[in-house]
Amino acid sequence: MKDELPKLPMTSTSSSYQNTESKITGVTTIQVKYMNEITQTLELLSGARVSYTVYDGLGRERSSSTEVVDDNGNVTIPCYSDDIHGSGSYSGTIHVQDNYRLRVYHPQTGSDVVGSFSGEFATDCGQQIPVQASFKMSHVFKRMSQTISKSRSFFQEQRGKIDVHIEWDVDNSFYCGSLPPFISPWCSDGGDDVIVIKDRPGADGYPDSHIGGPYGDFVVAHEYGHAMHAKALGGNVASGECPSPHYLDGAHNLQCAFSEGFANYHGAVGVKNGNIYVNDFEQNEFYPAVRGGGDPDDGSIIEGAVAAFLWDLTDPSNESHDGADYPGSYVADIIKTCKTDGSRANGVDHLIACFQRQIPSYSGYFDTRSSSPSSFSESATEPGSWNRTDVKALCRKNLYGENYDGPPLTVSVSDPVNLDEGEQGTWTASTNLSGASYTWFADEGAGWFQIGTGSSVTWGKDFISSTITVDIKVEAVKGSETASAQTSVIINNNDGGGGCNGVTPNQICP
Ligand SMILES: [Zn+2]
Repeated sequence: MKDELPKLPMTSTSSSYQNTESKITGVTTIQVKYMNEITQTLELLSGARVSYTVYDGLGRERSSSTEVVDDNGNVTIPCYSDDIHGSGSYSGTIHVQDNYRLRVYHPQTGSDVVGSFSGEFATDCGQQIPVQASFKMSHVFKRMSQTISKSRSFFQEQRGKIDVHIEWDVDNSFYCGSLPPFISPWCSDGGDDVIVIKDRPGADGYPDSHIGGPYGDFVVAHEYGHAMHAKALGGNVASGECPSPHYLDGAHNLQCAFSEGFANYHGAVGVKNGNIYVNDFEQNEFYPAVRGGGDPDDGSIIEGAVAAFLWDLTDPSNESHDGADYPGSYVADIIKTCKTDGSRANGVDHLIACFQRQIPSYSGYFDTRSSSPSSFSESATEPGSWNRTDVKALCRKNLYGENYDGPPLTVSVSDPVNLDEGEQGTWTASTNLSGASYTWFADEGAGWFQIGTGSSVTWGKDFISSTITVDIKVEAVKGSETASAQTSVIINNNDGGGGCNGVTPNQICP
């Protein structure tokens, strides 16, 4: 994708100076940084725009241009000089906006300007001139810009340009589209597709504003998660259902937990360095809930637990219960396309039906869903390593604190149930899971003895003096699970001779 401004041709603003001959004598490099006031370090403002004007030696405007600050924080301005008036000068402004992804602006002034500069080519040409932009808007732009890059590469989805403004007079940060309609006066003028970042310390119990620091960086990535969900994942049908306030460790409702759980998950994957919630999601610290009005043991209504479930799907399979290591694009595709009973999924229970390609059990699970769906559909491409048991294990662990090793092992034994003396019978075991191993036993009335291994066994009796009943048993083992099945077999006496004579009603001959 192309996010940079094209290099515009230098615009000549006057044609009355044709008797002077201008010459480009080099470039002046403007390096744009801002002071991160939380870490007390200077950061490059890469990706922002610089608009500048060039003047001749008499201060008359000669050209202007807009350029994007490169990865090294630099913009170069061709130095102006002409043979009559000598070298000229320049001035410019710094804007926290790019072409296609992001615009940060001040809510009262509507301005995206975070700094300005000017200088003389006579002294600056060939030099790198440091320019410092203001902190707050620059930092929100920088972190949001990094989040957008990570989000696009991780989820393989992109949305249109987002408007972001910082606001003193709010008690929290939010994406307008994730709120009930018209709840916020800061949303109505700019429409719903706006992110508001809180710039007031202490208003929601946190000591800092949401600008700067690990929590602020998480908030930026969380709110962009809502904006991405709404515009790149086919709309967020679960938005607007959260109580206020709501909490990572609150038991609220299915819709809130889905909408906020995805935003929290996006917040964890969308921060470039040092995300504060990675370990919490890995450890599922928000389960069981300690707040909210719902069942604290029902993780399907806890946003932190839903985030932990999504997190485990796409992080490495680094825990004993975590066999899944799926790409973010798979999660994005499921959210985009998952339907139950023909409607978009609006809770993690619906998503689980699509992730595991099977409607989950509602007995003891998802108690707040009034009725279980009877059908589901999705059009994601399952990863090559997809495995239903892995998905179920993450669901049970993160949402209900249970261990799940897969469905219980079951085994059954085939016929025959009648043989004649001297006849060999072959029995075959069937299990619900592949990969089990088998041991076969017989009991003629004096205890079990082994007659073979493998998924089938062949065995028989010769020369019995009277008809007997023999029990045939198979024991199946897979991992830590065992299962067994047995059948009773009548072996008919044939008056001491092998083979089938077919002379009494009890005899069954082939
Ligand atoms: Zn949120």
